[in-house]
Amino acid sequence: MNENLRIVSVSLMAPPYTTLHYRLPEWLPEDMWCAGLRVAVPLGARGTLRAGVIAACGCAPDTVPQGIELKAVLWPLEFVPLLGEEYLEMVRQLAVRQMVPPGQILGMLLPAGLRSAGVRLRVRAGGRPRTLRLRDIAKMADSERHVLASHWSAGRVEVLEPETDEAENDICHVTADPPWPVRPAARRQTEVLEYLWENGPVSRRRMLHDLGTGAQTPLLTLAERGLVHVGPLDAEQAEVCGCGIDSACHTEAFENQLFELTDAQQAALRACTDAVESDSAETRLLFGITGSGKTAVYLELARACLEKGLSVMLLAPEVALACKLYRDVQLRFPGLPAVLYHGYQSAHEREQQFLNLAAQAREGRPVLIAGTRSALFLPVASLGAVVLDEEHDASFKQDERLSYQAKEVAWFRVAQSKGALVLGSATPDVKTFHAVREGHMPGIVLSERVGGGTLPAVELVNIKDNAVKETILAPQTLTRIKETVTRGEQAVILLNRRGYAPLMYCLDCGSVARCPECEIGLTYHKGRERLVCHYCGHSVPFPSPCAKCRGVHYLPMGEGTEKLEETLSTMLPHGKKVLRLDRDSTRRPGRMEQILAAFAREESSILVGTQMLSKGHHFPSVTLAVVADGDIGLNMPDYRATERTFQLLVQAAGRAGRGERPGSVIIQTRDPAHYCWDYIRNCDYEGFFEKELEARRKRRYPPFVKLALIRLSYPMDWPQGQDRVNALASAVRASGRELGVSVLGPAPAPLPVLRGRRRFQCLLKASDWKTIRMLFHAARQGVPASSRLRLSLDLDPVNML
Ligand code: ADP
Ligand code: ZN
Repeated sequence: MNENLRIVSVSLMAPPYTTLHYRLPEWLPEDMWCAGLRVAVPLGARGTLRAGVIAACGCAPDTVPQGIELKAVLWPLEFVPLLGEEYLEMVRQLAVRQMVPPGQILGMLLPAGLRSAGVRLRVRAGGRPRTLRLRDIAKMADSERHVLASHWSAGRVEVLEPETDEAENDICHVTADPPWPVRPAARRQTEVLEYLWENGPVSRRRMLHDLGTGAQTPLLTLAERGLVHVGPLDAEQAEVCGCGIDSACHTEAFENQLFELTDAQQAALRACTDAVESDSAETRLLFGITGSGKTAVYLELARACLEKGLSVMLLAPEVALACKLYRDVQLRFPGLPAVLYHGYQSAHEREQQFLNLAAQAREGRPVLIAGTRSALFLPVASLGAVVLDEEHDASFKQDERLSYQAKEVAWFRVAQSKGALVLGSATPDVKTFHAVREGHMPGIVLSERVGGGTLPAVELVNIKDNAVKETILAPQTLTRIKETVTRGEQAVILLNRRGYAPLMYCLDCGSVARCPECEIGLTYHKGRERLVCHYCGHSVPFPSPCAKCRGVHYLPMGEGTEKLEETLSTMLPHGKKVLRLDRDSTRRPGRMEQILAAFAREESSILVGTQMLSKGHHFPSVTLAVVADGDIGLNMPDYRATERTFQLLVQAAGRAGRGERPGSVIIQTRDPAHYCWDYIRNCDYEGFFEKELEARRKRRYPPFVKLALIRLSYPMDWPQGQDRVNALASAVRASGRELGVSVLGPAPAPLPVLRGRRRFQCLLKASDWKTIRMLFHAARQGVPASSRLRLSLDLDPVNML
């Protein structure tokens, strides 16, 4: 036979992540090899074993490097390929877009156990079963391998997953809110608690990696004392994320979900199912005001897909909302094959889920997945629809590790299966709505609240000359909150700033307490008794002496949610507490759901919180929503500052008046003349859109150009850093001129120092992504590589800091 048919290319799922050619070994039959199969291959002179995925079989002669002797694939890691052709195509596309090898993408998308060469084979042939490591096979004589191969082909070999790594599967999280009963001398314990508090639930492995193995003893002490949980999260998971439906509220919740769709919802559903049925891939914007019943449309769409044998993904911007979608599915359609997927699961659970889904995909069985953005990378068969709820939300873009925009990946996936992408929002992304206006995607409108509820009346309160200095809330706002509470109704107060006070002045020398790593002011967290950097997590006990004058007298300035909670608690009857929803109060798994449930049961009449409380929640007794500081977002160094503010405030306003009683909204501002308030007040999305679009056209921002950021950083103490940045700057500007890309900067980033590194960024505007990638490639070639200079390209940046 043609020798080239026996050559495959394999993408390595571990460093160096390259795609290399290998010979197929003669000891296994030819027809078992195909693209997508995971295999173990030797690498380098020492033959180190790596796991990889066959990228292509039967490589053409001219693609194979000449003059070197190809090594043979050692052994397959499975009998049937984990990944189908469509999945591999997605990996290739992501690799091109990110300018990294496909192996690296696989390394990021596959759960750890599925990309490890640490598997063992159990052979059941004569006598006791034998267990072999891949290393043992590497050392075998050919004759032995032939014997093993005959067992393999006869089904007498089982692939055992890599030994379970307990440190990977143990999830650690804090079980009590600060302040914790820990002696001041027990520094290591405090360090562990602070770390877990900052990072949320993490695997023991990651914690030990970050804090050093010395953290193991204090961790176990804390676990013994019941302050920290160490172990699998899975058993509790169902309960803590609110997905487990406890029987008491089950009946009521269930009956609440039995309604028929309204005519408007029916029409919206038909438009979506038409898109699924059409024989090309389609996108739809479901533009429905808050409370218009979009969720029910998604659920019926999901059912319609499953009935046709098509899979469907319902994705939300955060874990709590994904859990809510999952629970809604279970309530409305008990027994439907649904899977919940999000980041808090253990490594082992993620592996099992990936394997199960891959198996179902091979059999062509449809599934419903409710999850967050990372669910987009799960293997599924014939995808009928992907729904992105709250499509405008910034968290659909991932910045760390693998940078991607969920909308693009979702579109790619439905395009492969000619399915439908449904984007749902009350305040769509300006780019999305522009696409609708330009005729690139049909829009479906739900313009009424279900049950005829009206949108709340919005009023502005000027706080420029607020006489009350103790709180940001103006006297008339306080009065309104008091009246609401007295009537037995509920109020939500939005303040997008967590902690007690964002600035701490030293009364002795007048300086502000700053993070030594980021030069940013530290926020006072009263309950935690610490000053905390909100950018890197660095914290110091409070009170501790001023870094400049060693004084210990501080003046807290400004107000965060923690202080607001304190201020408002005086308004409630004795024994009642204000509820607070922010990153700090929801640090422990399950806390968010507990707080939301307590508020829904009307255990308290006031809920204070950050943007978390603006999203998706439905509280029928809320009649007043207060935006304590409407200006916070407007001054951000981001071309979308006004769009973000509009979206946040309309969403927050949408929390009021969702039940039978009408609602009202108060927005406090120091700039009552700002144009965005009128649009918010009239809930006039389209008016806002026109105005914003004009501004973007004038200033050349998306959707009129493609925007990218080159991010640069180097350690503060590196003397050559500035020279390197300058060299790169000239290279970028030179290729910018050549390629017709307009280049702004590099200038210090809005956060000029972070975690001890100086940061710069360079804004690129071009007419297409390809040119931007070319520019980046050229600029990167032009400067000497150094591990100290970090350089990355962010296409369509969402975080401009
Ligand atoms: P949106 O996501 O558009 O803001 P939701 O989907 O949360 O709105 O719906 C608001 C509320 O109305 C939910 O409690 C939902 O159960 C209820 N609801 C939705 N559709 C109907 C309907 N056709 N009949 C009765 N109640 C409905
Ligand atoms: Zn910091």
